[in-house]
Amino acid sequence: MIVRKAELSIAKRLAAVAGEDAQLEAKFLLQANGFHSPYQELSETDARALDPLIERRLAGEPLAYILGEWEFYGLPFYVDRTVLIPRPDTECLVEAALKLLDAEHNRVLDLCCGSGCIGIALAACGGAKVTASDISSDALDMTERNARRNGVSLELIRSDFLDAIDGEFDLIVCNPPYLTRADMDGRDASLRYEPELALYGGEDGLAFYRRLANEYTRVLKKGGTLLLEIGMTQREAVEALFSNAECMLDYGGRARVITVKRND
Ligand code: GLN
Repeated sequence: MIVRKAELSIAKRLAAVAGEDAQLEAKFLLQANGFHSPYQELSETDARALDPLIERRLAGEPLAYILGEWEFYGLPFYVDRTVLIPRPDTECLVEAALKLLDAEHNRVLDLCCGSGCIGIALAACGGAKVTASDISSDALDMTERNARRNGVSLELIRSDFLDAIDGEFDLIVCNPPYLTRADMDGRDASLRYEPELALYGGEDGLAFYRRLANEYTRVLKKGGTLLLEIGMTQREAVEALFSNAECMLDYGGRARVITVKRND
């Protein structure tokens, strides 16, 4: 059988979980296993070797974990179940941060770094000097691997939020856990594979924004900026926690990033 035909038959099987992305997912699975060209021959044994991967996807596991890597801001990142899968929604935070970086303002803290995707994108694309921190040492290991993969080096600090962080940053970027208890209870199968630690933001989803509002001036320079990802219904609640907050929309038109400039 040729790859093209295998792709169509895998796509048919994946349609139940992947919907309109089924064909793209089938292509990614084949490519990750060395089948790039549509007219390459695929033996029965080759095809059967993909079955366990297809079964995992049919059970609801996100494709990113099955492939073990995912793209963010055009860069490759290793991922596993210890870190959140980078989302395209977060790319607008990177875009906004890059506009604020220059040679004199390049000290960045990536707080709750997970896979490291935000900080690494800023180091690789904006020349930022990045400190990345997370409470999870597995996440920090993943950030380190990803930094190496993308040819940048970061300072890594294990910290419960800002507790172990010192220093004066020009920019703090943070995609904290922000799902509410209700979001967690109602989350779909794919989100159940992602770490609760990276998703759950307390009963009302706002716990980390409150902590940040109380503490950020200790580590952000005067004139510096805080860039926070938020859930699409959290704009007003998060704006109310900070003076000077502004909201940016993501490419889907949803409230996604709060920027706070420190003026005092
Ligand atoms: N954007 C993620 C989601 O809705 C949540 C990420 C987070 O909590 N920081 O699935």
